[in-house]
Amino acid sequence: MNLSSFTPLVLCLLVFTSQALAQAPDNFGNDSGEQIFNNVRIITGDGAVIEQGSILVRAGIILAVGPASRIAIPDGAVSHDLSGKTIIPALVNTHAHLGWEAYGDWGSQYFTEDNLTDHLYRHAYYGVGTIISTGSDEEEVAARVKLEQLRGNIGGARYHLSPGMGSPGGGPNPRFTDDPDYWGVHPVADPEQAVRTVRELAGRGYRIAKIWVDARDERRGAQLKLAPEIYKAVLETALNYDMRIIAHATTLADHKSLVNLGNRRFIHMPYDVEVDDEYLELVQENNVYIVPTLGMVTKREPYYIPAFRDPFFFDQVPPSLIESLNVNYNPAPVIRNAAAEERSARMANNLLKLKDHIILGTDAGAVGDFFGYADHVELELFVRMGMSPAEAIIASTSRSAEAFGLDNVGILQAGKAADFVILDANPLQDIRNTRQIHEVYLRGIKVDREGLQQKWSQ
Ligand SMILES: [Zn+2]
Repeated sequence: MNLSSFTPLVLCLLVFTSQALAQAPDNFGNDSGEQIFNNVRIITGDGAVIEQGSILVRAGIILAVGPASRIAIPDGAVSHDLSGKTIIPALVNTHAHLGWEAYGDWGSQYFTEDNLTDHLYRHAYYGVGTIISTGSDEEEVAARVKLEQLRGNIGGARYHLSPGMGSPGGGPNPRFTDDPDYWGVHPVADPEQAVRTVRELAGRGYRIAKIWVDARDERRGAQLKLAPEIYKAVLETALNYDMRIIAHATTLADHKSLVNLGNRRFIHMPYDVEVDDEYLELVQENNVYIVPTLGMVTKREPYYIPAFRDPFFFDQVPPSLIESLNVNYNPAPVIRNAAAEERSARMANNLLKLKDHIILGTDAGAVGDFFGYADHVELELFVRMGMSPAEAIIASTSRSAEAFGLDNVGILQAGKAADFVILDANPLQDIRNTRQIHEVYLRGIKVDREGLQQKWSQ
């Protein structure tokens, strides 16, 4: 048997209605047949590389990974000969904002089940197998989509959301909070409210939550940062419920205070100064994970790579969007002034000092970066700033999963989910080769990238 004997996936579900949902077959739960992916370079996600390897998959789970010579092909298994290709784990993106982006417009009115589902497929198209949406999801809509994904009625990247807590009036940047229909964040005005809120969120089944420590929008009365006694209460209560907190914080002083009070995950590196030895010790001793979100802050700086002329981005969005991006984004020159150079150098320095703690997150959906594509830009920025391609891949797969206790993804090992990307070229030679995607498999099922591309490029 070969690939062509596979039944193509039914993609009508991408535009599902609630009626269609009720009748949908279990298409995306996983594939029950055995498949073997043969003669392929396997980058396992934890640093190991198998040059002539095989991966045996059944029911969406990896049964075996190893040298091809040691893994027998079971009778009846579908065999994929992947000579010359490279497999990496599907990426794990720990910081994005799903639901608001409409590819041509943006706002809370687009936070629908259909649009949220579309964003999960956008990530899948680009080889992102797991996505954590941080603090901006409308929770009832999100819960319905998550449930349908668990039921196997929709595919795409595995969806995790992390409700957000902030000081009253605090929360995300004004782009969200200016939206008159924005549903807001969970306010935590004092330690007692922090304890109650974490318990409430735990009771609803959340195992990841976000806190905004920075005061983002003074106009709405959020002059106050989240006070240490409040985030201490959040962090301590979260421990009791096995809830993982990720903190938005951007200064070295706040980072130190947060680690000292129990925080282990950050959105953003310290941007204000170069990190010092005290901080590095704290990070190492406490196994802290950091999403640097480089793409967001390097757009006008020397590290920025113009994106909108890259076919890997524009072949899956409508021509009208490319036109508007060219008008709105490209005329802005890359600023090469001394201050920008200095900030980039500081960021690169901090990134290298923290490189064993860096994880993947793009902030896509919030700041004009686009789902999935932004992940590959982030990988490239990791390497441009001095990480090796191997380190960038570990950061974006196994370490990102580990940071949130997502034990089944981010690594290619027996017993883990069959979520991986087959590449036409070796990303260890050039990290931009992560864009040479041959196929993506999630839950052991091939993502219909051609069908998605057709749908999106209209
Ligand atoms: Zn964000």
